[in-house]
Amino acid sequence: MSEDKNDKKNEIRYCMVCGRSEEDCGGLIDLPGAGTVCNDCINKSLDMIKGRDDLKGLFEKIPHMTFMNMSDFFGPKQEAPEEEEKKKESGKEIPDLLDLPAPHEIKHSLDRYVVGQEHAKKVLSVAVYNHYKRVIESERKKKADREAAKKEISDSTDSIVEIDKSNILMIGPTGCGKTYLVQTLAKILDVPLAITDATSLTEAGYIGDDIESVVSKLLAAAGNKVSRAEHGIVFIDEIDKIAKKKNMHSRDVSGEAVQQGMLKLLEGAEIEVPVGASSKNAMVPMKRINTKNILFIVGGAFPGLEDIIKERLRKHTSIGFHAELKDQYDNEKNLIRKTTTEDLRAFGMIPEFLGRLPIICPLESLTEDMLVRILKEPRNAIIRQYQQLLAMDEVKLSFDEDALHVIAARAMERDTGARALRSILEEFMLDIMYEIPKDDNIGEVVITKAYIEGNGGPGILMRGQQLLTG
Ligand code: ADP
Repeated sequence: MSEDKNDKKNEIRYCMVCGRSEEDCGGLIDLPGAGTVCNDCINKSLDMIKGRDDLKGLFEKIPHMTFMNMSDFFGPKQEAPEEEEKKKESGKEIPDLLDLPAPHEIKHSLDRYVVGQEHAKKVLSVAVYNHYKRVIESERKKKADREAAKKEISDSTDSIVEIDKSNILMIGPTGCGKTYLVQTLAKILDVPLAITDATSLTEAGYIGDDIESVVSKLLAAAGNKVSRAEHGIVFIDEIDKIAKKKNMHSRDVSGEAVQQGMLKLLEGAEIEVPVGASSKNAMVPMKRINTKNILFIVGGAFPGLEDIIKERLRKHTSIGFHAELKDQYDNEKNLIRKTTTEDLRAFGMIPEFLGRLPIICPLESLTEDMLVRILKEPRNAIIRQYQQLLAMDEVKLSFDEDALHVIAARAMERDTGARALRSILEEFMLDIMYEIPKDDNIGEVVITKAYIEGNGGPGILMRGQQLLTG
C-alpha cells in the first residue's frame, strides 16, 4: 500500500497536449477528471478562443468571467530558459579586446609548446586574433543596436563594417601537431574546445553522431554555459576522409552529404542541441546555441594532395617554352604551401564547404631534427616529464644527444609523426623506472646511444661519484 503511494509520488507527469514533462514545461495544471496540461498549451487554447468572434459572446454572458494569463499561477513571469540563462552568465564569458593577446603574443605562447611549424603558427595567430576581434565587434554592435532601439535612434551602427567569419582548414600529415596547436590555442585564449573526428559524423538519420553533436560537445566543454560555448572552438579532424569519392555511381552518403550537412554550422546558425548527450531524444533537455561566433577549425592529412598540386603546376609550365621545367616540382619540399581551393576541389571537397573555410593553414612534415627538439624543448617535453619523475627519487636523468637522434630516427620510420616518440621512449624507460628506485645509491642515469641501440646499458653514477664529478 505504502509502496503504491511512493510510486505515485515519483511518477513523472506530462502535459496531455504537447507531451512535455512537468520539469520541462515548468509546472502542470490539473484539470479535474481530465488530466494535466501545461501553461503554454492552456494559454494557446485560450488565445484561440479569444480570436473566435462566434465564441466571444459566450464568455461575455458568464458573470465574473475574465481572461487571465495562466502563467500568473506559476509566480513571476518565466523568460525563455536560454534568454534567462544568457542573462545570468556574466559578460566575462566573451573575450575582452583588452585581454585579447596580439598575434605576436599568441605566436610567442605557441612557441613554448609547439616546435617548428612557424608558418602555421603565424597563420593561426593572425586568424584567431581577427576572429575574436570580430566576435567582440559584433557583440559591441549588438549592444549598440539594443541601446539605439531603446532610444529609438535608427542607423546607430551603420558605419560598422561586418567582418566575415573566417574558419580555418589545416593541412598536414599525421602527428605533425594539428590537434596540439589547436589545443594549445584554446588554452592560451581560455576558450572551450571540442575535438571530434569527421569519420564519426553522419547525416541526421544515419547511424553515428549527427553533425550537430559537435556543438553539444562544445557545450559540455563550456560547462553547459551557452554564452561561453558560443565563443569556443570546434576542431574537426580527419576532414579529408569525407571527401567526395571519385567515380562513384551510387549516392555518396558518407562524404559529400556530411560536407553539405556541415555548411549551416560553419556559417552560423541557431541550433538546438541536447545537453549532456550526443543524440536528441524526448527525455534530454535541449539548449539553443548560435554557431555564428564559434571558430571552426578542420584538419586533415589529405594524402595525394601534393600530386594534385604538382599536376596543376605542371599544366601551367608545360604550356609554351617552360616545358623543360616540368619536373622541377618533384623535389620541392613545401609544396603543400602552394595549396589552392582548386586543388582541394580536385581532392573531393565541395566548393560550398571550401567557401566557408577561407583560411588555409599548411603544416610541414616533421624532420628528425624537429623530433629531437620535440623530445626536449617544449615546456611539457617528454624527457622533461621523465626527468621530473626521477627527480622525485632524487635521481638526475640525462640523455646523450646522439641517443635522442636514434629515437627520432626510429620514430620517423613509423610515419606517425611525433606520436611515435612517446611509445618508443617508453620501451626504454620502463626498465629504468623499474630498476632505479631499487638502489638508493644511484644519483644519475645517462641514456646513451648504445643503450637505445641495444649494445650496452645506460650510464649510471652513484651518489658518491656524482659528488666527486660534480
Ligand atoms: P595531428 O597532426 O595528427 O593532429 P597531434 O597534434 O595529435 O597530431 O600530435 C600528436 C602529439 O605529438 C601531440 O600530442 C604532441 O605531443 C606531439 N607533437 C606533434 N607535433 C608537435 C610539434 N610540432 N611540437 C611539439 N609537439 C608535437
